[in-house]
Amino acid sequence: MKGAVLYGAHQPLIIEDLDLLPPQTGEVRVHFAASGVCHSDLHYIKGDRMCPMPVVLGHEGAGVVEEVGPGVTYVKPGDHVILSLVPACGRCTDCVAGRPNLCEVRYTLNGNLPNGTTRLRKGTQEIKHFACVSSFAEYGVVPEGSLVHIDADMPLGQAALIGCCVTTGVGAALWTAKVQPGTSVVVIGCGGVGLNIIQGAALAGAERIIAVDTMPSKLEYAEVFGATHRVNASEVDPVQAVRDLTRGQGVDYAFEAIGLTATSVQALQCTRRGGKAIIVGVIRHGAQLTIDPDFLHQDRQLLGCTYGSANMRAAMPQLIDLYRAKKLKLDELVSRTYPLAEINTAFAALEQGEVARSIIAYA
Ligand SMILES: [Zn+2]
Ligand SMILES: [Zn+2]
Repeated sequence: MKGAVLYGAHQPLIIEDLDLLPPQTGEVRVHFAASGVCHSDLHYIKGDRMCPMPVVLGHEGAGVVEEVGPGVTYVKPGDHVILSLVPACGRCTDCVAGRPNLCEVRYTLNGNLPNGTTRLRKGTQEIKHFACVSSFAEYGVVPEGSLVHIDADMPLGQAALIGCCVTTGVGAALWTAKVQPGTSVVVIGCGGVGLNIIQGAALAGAERIIAVDTMPSKLEYAEVFGATHRVNASEVDPVQAVRDLTRGQGVDYAFEAIGLTATSVQALQCTRRGGKAIIVGVIRHGAQLTIDPDFLHQDRQLLGCTYGSANMRAAMPQLIDLYRAKKLKLDELVSRTYPLAEINTAFAALEQGEVARSIIAYA
């Protein structure tokens, strides 16, 4: 099969002929239909974050089950699935407490499947998995716990986006921050995740949703997804602009969706007394946040967020229902579709802010 391999940071992905070993106990072979091109993958390509290499990236996938290994009961061949970027074990304390996004297994992977081995090979060379998904390849072998079974009539391109940016963004608004009706929100960074925070806040009934970005193209997307006001942070101080739009008070909820320390501090500074700042963006390894503790003393809350605090097998079918009810925009997210051979072009377009989201589509 074809797969895109990252051999080292600051290098383009190389399309290779790879071998995929058969699924072992508790594993499933999936034929990918589509994979979103996410900024988190770009962090590893650019060296902002580290993972074992060589690796097949891609963590926002959907496809069709082709073969199941011994002991698999959740799916059968032919089932349509979204890949969760957390392979929830279903047994650890976080899983049984309804927080499978925090499953302990995800923190032990180190480029392997949960049993400590890999299925990807280039000749005799071992290739690492990424988040047990590795959807920048035509096929994948993944743990059963990575799968979310969905209805077969859901388009798989749109379904793939639920695998990361939609669940992360909408979930940040609904499940991490628990945005209330009539409140005010700012979203700093209007990429794939930021746009979904905006539509999550709109779903929750926020009265004022302020979009902040430095690219006019992204601010235009933001209005499509429900932003009521836009602030171009390359022209004005975003913190002052947010205060000006909220009678000088600041917002109830401020989301950071870029992954920078400066904008994380800005998010906290944008909150009103008693407000919440939610850091959704993935910040580079080793960075430190410097904040004014007086801000926290005024009942503000600084929150982290991983995967939208979602309980994946409950949340993803819900998001599909909202899409079908025309309350969640997924079609509008897919700006472009590329074949795997053009994956480096897709990442360049992402970096230039040319797309809300692009997907790699497989035959
Ligand atoms: Zn992602
Ligand atoms: Zn678990």
